[in-house]
Amino acid sequence: MVRTGCCALLLSFGLSLPALAAMPSVKVLIGKSLKNIRVEGTDLRKIIHTQNKSLQYEGRKEISFNCDPSKSANPTKFPLKQVHVASLQSPTGLVSWGNKKYQGEFQLITSAKQESCDLVNLIPMESYITSLLSKEMNGSWPIEALKAQAVAARTYALHRIKGFNKPGLESHDEIYHLESSEKDQVSGTYFDATALTVKAAKETEGVILLPKSGKISQIFFHSKCGGRTFRPDQVWGGVEEGYRQVDCPFCHKLGTKQWKKKVSRYQLTGLVDRALQKYYADKLVSSDIKFLPDREDVSEVRFYDGDRFLMVKKAYLRNMSGREMLPSNHFSIKDDKQGVQIAGEGYGHGVGLCQLGALELAKRGYTYKQILSFYFPQHHLSKAY
Ligand SMILES: [Zn+2]
Repeated sequence: MVRTGCCALLLSFGLSLPALAAMPSVKVLIGKSLKNIRVEGTDLRKIIHTQNKSLQYEGRKEISFNCDPSKSANPTKFPLKQVHVASLQSPTGLVSWGNKKYQGEFQLITSAKQESCDLVNLIPMESYITSLLSKEMNGSWPIEALKAQAVAARTYALHRIKGFNKPGLESHDEIYHLESSEKDQVSGTYFDATALTVKAAKETEGVILLPKSGKISQIFFHSKCGGRTFRPDQVWGGVEEGYRQVDCPFCHKLGTKQWKKKVSRYQLTGLVDRALQKYYADKLVSSDIKFLPDREDVSEVRFYDGDRFLMVKKAYLRNMSGREMLPSNHFSIKDDKQGVQIAGEGYGHGVGLCQLGALELAKRGYTYKQILSFYFPQHHLSKAY
């Protein structure tokens, strides 16, 4: 139902239906650099890939893996790369690690230097989305907000799967598709799913967002934009097809309100210098810099370094300073006689779907299609499987 003017043009946001494929599974990194792993399950099947062996255990069983070579009498020698050592599955469909239950199977991967193990959860995409919604949003939020998040997260994951093993990607790409962390997206465990998250995943099963070219690309989301979203190039540099900056008046009243950070000029100058060195192969020549008038929805900080006019992306300052000091990229720097002050709003990188904005829109009666077309006006929905 359209209740205000903002989304009146959204009705053309249709669903194209290309050829159906099978639902993919996602490899999610859930544990890193572990010295010891204890996995529990019923009627577990353990497959040791390095020995081409399969073992079946009856009843409830805990299986322990020692990944610390210093504590092993006969450490196994592997080449210096990550090796998929073992898989664990249960016919009940659930495996436990650290008192948390997961769907799908566990894959045990050695670290490249054989000093520890990583734990990967291989899980069907829709089960992954079902539990993720409770972590990335909240399992009790309105269903249309959850559905918008489901489509965004599914597209993000499918993009990673499609890029799997392609040259030029990160070294882990033979091992897992994405991490369960803020680096990618935070996934949950079996009991994180709620009736609403199950419904949201089911009612959007296989639906993804595509740009005009039809080529799957990265779909980003964040907690709160604070008033205006950014394009990926404004935050990270790389151009991603179809993104637009969107004015979002919907998240203002939700979550953390405006934030202010007190920093010394010395501290901020040091931060700018580090960002210049890391991202621009440059450095400050003057010890005292003068910031120009700034606005929160502008993605760069502009300043004079002596006589030189320079710009630095706010996202780069946030990368260098940490999220504690700069919770979002939506901030401005005021430089006057009182000194320098940073004030901002929002939480997260600010690109793509604003989750609190989506919550507010869903409360006002917008559908997930309308929410997505508001934040991704140049994208369309498509059914991947
Ligand atoms: Zn917003």
